[in-house]
Amino acid sequence: MSPPSLAIHWFRQDLRLADNPALTQAVKHGQVVPIYILDDAAAGMHAPGAASRWWLHHSLTDLRQRLKGSLSVYKGDSVAILVDLVTRLQITAVHWTREYVPWRVAQDAQVADALRERGVAVSVHSGSLLWEPDTIVKPDGTPYGVFTPFYKRGCLAAPAPRAPIPEPQGGGYQSDSMALPSINALNLLPRIRWDQALAPHWDIGELGGHRRFNAFVDTGLDHYKDRRDFPADPSVSRLSPHLHFGEVSPNQLWHAVYAESMNNQRAHFCSELGWREFAYYVLHHHPTVPHTNLQPLFDAFPWQEDPALMRLWQRGETGIPMVDAGMRELWQTGYMHNRPRMIAGSFLVKNARMHWRHGERWFWDTLVDANPANNSASWQWVAGSGSDAAPYFRVFNPVLQGQKFDPDGAYIRRYIPELAALPTEYLAHPWTAPAAVLASAGIQLGVTYPQPCVDLAQTRAAALAAFQQMNAESI
Ligand SMILES: Cc1cc2nc3c(=O)[nH]c(=O)nc-3n(C[C@H](O)[C@H](O)[C@H](O)COP(=O)(O)OP(=O)(O)OC[C@H]3O[C@@H](n4cnc5c(N)ncnc54)[C@H](O)[C@@H]3O)c2cc1C
Repeated sequence: MSPPSLAIHWFRQDLRLADNPALTQAVKHGQVVPIYILDDAAAGMHAPGAASRWWLHHSLTDLRQRLKGSLSVYKGDSVAILVDLVTRLQITAVHWTREYVPWRVAQDAQVADALRERGVAVSVHSGSLLWEPDTIVKPDGTPYGVFTPFYKRGCLAAPAPRAPIPEPQGGGYQSDSMALPSINALNLLPRIRWDQALAPHWDIGELGGHRRFNAFVDTGLDHYKDRRDFPADPSVSRLSPHLHFGEVSPNQLWHAVYAESMNNQRAHFCSELGWREFAYYVLHHHPTVPHTNLQPLFDAFPWQEDPALMRLWQRGETGIPMVDAGMRELWQTGYMHNRPRMIAGSFLVKNARMHWRHGERWFWDTLVDANPANNSASWQWVAGSGSDAAPYFRVFNPVLQGQKFDPDGAYIRRYIPELAALPTEYLAHPWTAPAAVLASAGIQLGVTYPQPCVDLAQTRAAALAAFQQMNAESI
């Protein structure tokens, strides 16, 4: 048997011990130094936003506890920090989990070169996607551009995702005495403690992620397909931040839910994991998707700039209840249900006609699940500029959406308490309520709750006209 050697496991978006193939391989060396590096400069526009930093602080704290204090953390240039570490600690191998965001892809190549030049073995492991993007291609060898064939003909026809593996046993974890003294030293928490409002909504960390999944199995999974569009219901998993930080792996979820003879509620949940795969697939094959229209036609779209309207949208003060409820859920919890994400997104890019990048940036800063693949793919989907996007002429009507998906007004009442006493029939459009009804509900539009900041019908027509103009100019 070869003598134990010292390896590094470099944690990134895989903040878990179980089902972590890279960590499991690192442990086989005998002794492992588990590390995390916060490298904002290299991440650029994808340095974690404020809400993600808050989550990251707690997730690293949890991981360090699970590693009995031996997680070493650093801040700065990953290449320089790793080169210093392997030299100082006489490391023989470095393991990490593959990522797909362009800055990581570029940096991983640099890190691998720098380590190999120093005689250190580098092992990159698959661990955050069910299917590696390069393995799913059309019969002619080119990548899929549309979700349904990608998922059905590509993913489901490919070999099944690997089964999850348990937490590695037997290795020893060591820390580096030259690392930062604490997770606090990463300065991830905000100076003004707005984050205290977020905390009660989440159970951050690997075990918390699994508790969340178990709760979803009890309350949501068996009516997921039927109820997933109703934002007041506990029918969606809210696992997106746990998945984003890698506290739970997609393989763990897939194997807990997928079965050949599963019902269509479970199948639908699996297909949403498929949408996550598709977003990373698109990012892998089109690395400019976070900042460039996938359909270049949209480069000529006449977007508007309206900072005042943008602020109303950000604060949930547009006067359109379904938009405002979504934006307030985001502000208060760091999360927004998918249906209001689509409604609020459509409002911004169509009724307010602002570039999807403005929405993408706000979500980047405020979502605890903000990730470069899902966020940019979803914004381009909403705008109509993405691959397999909703057509631009599909403008969500936030009033009809509210009546359909929040029929008893529970979601609007939860996030807009000032409208709570309004009869349900007016909740999605309080400006149509008779003066006496508003008065008896204690509402003074323009004072206790805003008047609508735009006319929905007029702005819809203007958006469609702008779309036609863009199309006409492209001919
Ligand atoms: C404008 C806009 C921006 C978005 N930004 C993000 C983002 O930054 N990060 C993010 O994770 N999701 C994003 N989404 C997709 C989706 O809204 C969230 O993944 C979902 O609401 C997360 O909640 P959940 O975990 O309860 O989802 P569930 O319904 O329980 O789904 C389970 C998992 O499937 C994946 N998933 C579900 N829906 C989608 C989807 N439409 N696209 C890709 N993956 C999906 C997620 O990983 C999710 O955690 C965005 C959607 C829109 C319309």
